[in-house]
Amino acid sequence: MNDCIFCKIINGEIPSKKVYETDKVYAFHDINPEAPVHVLIVPKEHIASHNELSSENVDVMKDIHLAANEIARKLGISESGYRLINNCGADAGQTVFHLHYHLAGGTAMGSKIL
Ligand code: IMP
Repeated sequence: MNDCIFCKIINGEIPSKKVYETDKVYAFHDINPEAPVHVLIVPKEHIASHNELSSENVDVMKDIHLAANEIARKLGISESGYRLINNCGADAGQTVFHLHYHLAGGTAMGSKIL
């Protein structure tokens, strides 16, 4: 998608600190980290949000979840724990409309969701 910031990151038009890449998934450090480890995992295909997942494109979720496991191991937070968060839509605070999962860890975050 022409004006999507994450599409531009995936195709290299905008620089990013890459941590993981496959043919279907790209992951990079969040520019404004909210935890000691804060990585964004995105499908290379432009999918605007979780709402746009369908039987046609949902297979990429397998790759995203496996990417999260691998990145957590690589960045040393697999055992201590982490959150995998998706913000869908305005009320959830989604600001970039290209599906992404925040992998956040490296600190104790407690048990509350909000
Ligand atoms: P959202 O609020 O769930 O949509 O999260 C969007 C995330 O993208 C935020 O945590 C931003 O800090 C992050 N972000 C926005 N632009 C960039 C960028 O150019 N590089 C890396 N992260 C970005």
